[in-house]
Amino acid sequence: MMITLEGRSVEYSILRNRRARRVKLRVEIAQGLVVVIPWRFPAKEVPSILLENARWILRILDRQHTILDSAPALVSANGTVRLAGCAIPLKVEPTNSRRVSVALDAESLHIALPPFSNLNTVIEAWYRRHARTVFAEKVREWSLLIGVQPVKLKIGDPRSRWGSCSTRGTISLSWRLLLAPSEVMDYVIVHELCHMKQRNHSPHFWKLVESILPDLSARRLWLRENGTHLRAAR
Ligand SMILES: [Zn+2]
Repeated sequence: MMITLEGRSVEYSILRNRRARRVKLRVEIAQGLVVVIPWRFPAKEVPSILLENARWILRILDRQHTILDSAPALVSANGTVRLAGCAIPLKVEPTNSRRVSVALDAESLHIALPPFSNLNTVIEAWYRRHARTVFAEKVREWSLLIGVQPVKLKIGDPRSRWGSCSTRGTISLSWRLLLAPSEVMDYVIVHELCHMKQRNHSPHFWKLVESILPDLSARRLWLRENGTHLRAAR
């Protein structure tokens, strides 16, 4: 729904909530303005409430845009999320159900968001789950090609590295790699798997990695140039 507030068009959605005692206004990233109303509250009274609170709404919307513009966010200002180097439109629908649901299809990432849940938290949790699926598949394929057998895959969010490989054969990867292009994910995975054969960064090690990924340096360069940005995204 659309309303004009002090000359600006503002989109909003209405959410009926059984537990709500009074009308509440929320401004959320990607969802924009959400009006939570008690179950039997007449929806036709909503526009006048928005007009009464126009100043406040516009101030919060502006503040949110500033935050989105200055800090890299998991959700960008145009309402997309990064996945494998692409911008995927995010479709957020408020729901009265208590359950969050996230579904990825060919066009967008759909989220049914219960009242009072935090969109960024929901998205980060989804990234972690999705990272496990995507990385497990890649690790399986590359392990076969390299001829190693990792025993475990751990998904984390380490501050200083993208991946690691333990002497026991556990491969740990940052879920944030999911934001990077697929070739970059492959580079980190191949790098860690090669450590199962060479536990160092000797010329021998790099030769091994390069024998599998001849364009290794372009992939490393991407990570060096964009890594900080991926790490900071909240
Ligand atoms: Zn290494």
